Amino acid sequence: MHEKKHSRLIILGSGPAGYTAAIYASRAMLEPTLLTGIEPGGQMTITTDVENYPGFSEIIQGPWLMEQMKEQAVNVGTEVVFDTIVKVNLSDKPFELISDSGSEYTCDALIISTGAQAKWLGLDSEEKFKGYGVSACATCDGFFFKDKRVLVVGGGNTAAEEALFLTNFASKVTLIHRRDSLRSEKILQERLFINEKIEIMWNSEIKKVIGKEEPLMVEGAIVNDKVTDQNKKIEADGIFIAIGHSPSSQIFKDQLEINQNGYINTKPDSTVTSIEGVFAAGDVTDEKYRQAVTAAGMGCMAALEAEDYLSK
Ligand SMILES: Cc1cc2nc3c(=O)[nH]c(=O)nc-3n(C[C@H](O)[C@H](O)[C@H](O)COP(=O)(O)OP(=O)(O)OC[C@H]3O[C@@H](n4cnc5c(N)ncnc54)[C@H](O)[C@@H]3O)c2cc1C
Repeated sequence: MHEKKHSRLIILGSGPAGYTAAIYASRAMLEPTLLTGIEPGGQMTITTDVENYPGFSEIIQGPWLMEQMKEQAVNVGTEVVFDTIVKVNLSDKPFELISDSGSEYTCDALIISTGAQAKWLGLDSEEKFKGYGVSACATCDGFFFKDKRVLVVGGGNTAAEEALFLTNFASKVTLIHRRDSLRSEKILQERLFINEKIEIMWNSEIKKVIGKEEPLMVEGAIVNDKVTDQNKKIEADGIFIAIGHSPSSQIFKDQLEINQNGYINTKPDSTVTSIEGVFAAGDVTDEKYRQAVTAAGMGCMAALEAEDYLSK
């Protein structure tokens, strides 16, 4: 259905940043429209146990948390629409957004909270064990691997930082890297090399994640040595894929200031972007923290800044 709709405020994305922005904007009587994108609930819907979102004394499930945020946003007046934007024109006001269904949305202010995607290896076995021992976030899931053996895949700063962080919990951390040297900063490399808990498997690639069926649980991986072409089974309780993230900012390229890694630039201590009336919150602008609670915090900031902008 091709629709045309104007809103004072449109929020793009239904992760913690988008829903929090929606809750604050609705309560400020801005009557926002939130477009969910193809992943309603965002990244938290592809994880299971969440133990670090404040307000819950017990482990909660990521998809459940996102359902609560959605209900809260709807209850205070947000219109939630299942649609994905494929094209934007931010050069004139009102801003124009075209969706993949052909619908046209216009707005006076826009909050971009389109998040990011962790990069994965693309193995079927990896997909099967996601949330059951395979993770892309050591800050989120490291605590579950106290005194256990973990593998970290990657060779850049993310992998080095995650491997070092995981030594706070794990009994052993094996870094698996497909080349014979790391791309990470020298200082991180030095810390990796002197850490007794860390072993590095050079020129190596995971071919398959292996584990138990019921309950689903990682038991290790088949790792290929690229020099000898020999496969080896490495036992481990968890596997962290740390090969980077892709912020979902492609549709804003050439319109907004975006940094070399694809993250939308915002002014310091603010969600204000290079275009007046356009705000960015959450993982699409945050290369550093990438947490649900920081995304939610930025969503709140974006709504307050949008309210201020619209009131002028
Ligand atoms: C496996 C995993 C486990 C994690 N565990 C934890 C944890 O335990 N605790 C924690 O705090 N954090 C955790 N995180 C990190 C957390 O999920 C993210 O930091 C958080 O979800 C970022 O929120 P966001 O709102 O910025 O974006 P996202 O959650 O990435 O949501 C982005 C939204 O934008 C939408 N979108 C994208 N493009 C468009 C478009 N063109 N048009 C419309 N909509 C669009 C998507 O559909 C999606 O709804 C985990 C992440 C992963 C991958």
